[in-house]
Amino acid sequence: MNNATKPTQEAHYSFFQGVERNFDKAAQYTRFESGILEQIKACNSVYRMKYPVRIGDKIEVIEAYRVQHSHHKLPCKGGIRYSMDVNQDEVMALAALMTYKCAIVNVPFGGAKGGIKINPKNYSVFELEKITRRYASELVKKNFIGPGIDVPAPDYGTGPREMSWIVDTYASLKPGEVDALACITGKPVTQGGVRGRTEATGLGVYYGIREVCNTAEDMKKLGLEVGIEGKKVIVQGLGNVGYHAAKFFYDNGAIIVGVAEYEGGIYDEKGLDIYKVVEYRKSTGSIMNYPGATNIVNSAETLEQPCDILIPAALENVINGGNAARIQAKIIGEGANGPLTPEADEILNQKGVIVVPDMYLNAGGVTVSYFEWLKNLSHVRFGRMDKRFSENQNSSILASVESLTGKKVTAIERTQILHGPDEVDLVYSGLEDTMIGSYHEIREALLSLDNKVDMRTAAFTVAINKVGVSYEELGIFP
Ligand code: NAD
Repeated sequence: MNNATKPTQEAHYSFFQGVERNFDKAAQYTRFESGILEQIKACNSVYRMKYPVRIGDKIEVIEAYRVQHSHHKLPCKGGIRYSMDVNQDEVMALAALMTYKCAIVNVPFGGAKGGIKINPKNYSVFELEKITRRYASELVKKNFIGPGIDVPAPDYGTGPREMSWIVDTYASLKPGEVDALACITGKPVTQGGVRGRTEATGLGVYYGIREVCNTAEDMKKLGLEVGIEGKKVIVQGLGNVGYHAAKFFYDNGAIIVGVAEYEGGIYDEKGLDIYKVVEYRKSTGSIMNYPGATNIVNSAETLEQPCDILIPAALENVINGGNAARIQAKIIGEGANGPLTPEADEILNQKGVIVVPDMYLNAGGVTVSYFEWLKNLSHVRFGRMDKRFSENQNSSILASVESLTGKKVTAIERTQILHGPDEVDLVYSGLEDTMIGSYHEIREALLSLDNKVDMRTAAFTVAINKVGVSYEELGIFP
């Protein structure tokens, strides 16, 4: 959830209205006529369904949604969440944010989102499979899923298992459809998934923040050295996004000084070995009392400890009017959706903190989902055609260099130089390029507005410009 769009207790508007407010704030800096702006904002199709599923000896009526926010590019794309909080407004807001997120990272899809109003913990695996397969068949019946129509993905409460059930249901209702695997992403690798998807969001967070830290002018303003190495980092949440982000920061020379989980936080200014922290948590069930670190009993206070970079990667609204002024980080990277309230945003912007918005920073997942879709449509693993060719070519170039110089490289260097790209190498490289390119698009937008707005508003203007041009060029049906 985007923080400036997630309503807080003091805000009297819905989540979707919040997204519209953020949109309007940014739209004034774009050139589009009001009709185009209205069309960009509107949710194109909303499908609310109710269907019966036998649970034990009772029939339960399941409430579910699929919203396609924008058809300016097809297919639409967005996750499916299972949560008791699912409602039409939330699904519409999340679908809208997917449109803008895809535009920012140049993923050529419209935005969508789906949800089933259940608590998955209340059902057996068998019951969840029935609920999921019936949802998939409802989508097929209404033409709300398909490789060129709408391509869902995992979200809160769903994962590769649910994606497998959905693709299997789709394929059995569409026999012979050669591209059936491309109807959904986030599948297990054995079912057409792509290598690198699991860590993609955390890796994207790392690439994005690394780019911020490599921008000399901005680092000078913050009084920080250029580069990731030696930067002190605090991460909240050791789940999919937080753990992988922390791991990439650690592997690349940053110092993880603090970690916050729901049971509490730990802090060590000398730095924590993130692998050992995770091992320790696995064996003891908690990060608390990690050797050498200070315990922070109130987990949220971990966010207020000294550091250069803070990565909230757990929950919404964790930085708010109550604690924003005490945050010491100079850079905040929104790994989670909506970790800052609008009030916090304002306080931190006034303090000169760089807040890197979720809409850009956690887009690694959808970017790699796009790669998975491409893989499914091409029916070939990335790297299969060119890996051996590259290795042979590298080998002959190296042989020429060695014979010309009369020197030999070391065995380790040889392995590195000869290595042709595997699927995961290409996925990482595509993601890295995306995160770097998109960051500079947002930064240019910021500079073109003389830094009058925050990075979130600048990111929105980038998205509106792309979707607006797309609608203009599509033309309006007479
Ligand atoms: P996750 O469930 O894997 O991890 C969340 C972690 O936060 C867990 O380890 C949990 O124990 C921890 N946590 C819970 N309460 C906490 C608290 N009070 N203090 C500190 N830690 C707490 O979820 P995830 O997939 O990593 O998603 C995290 C956030 O990132 C969500 O906002 C999600 O919407 C967003 N996001 C995820 C992806 C993705 O690809 N997974 C993509 C985009 C955005």
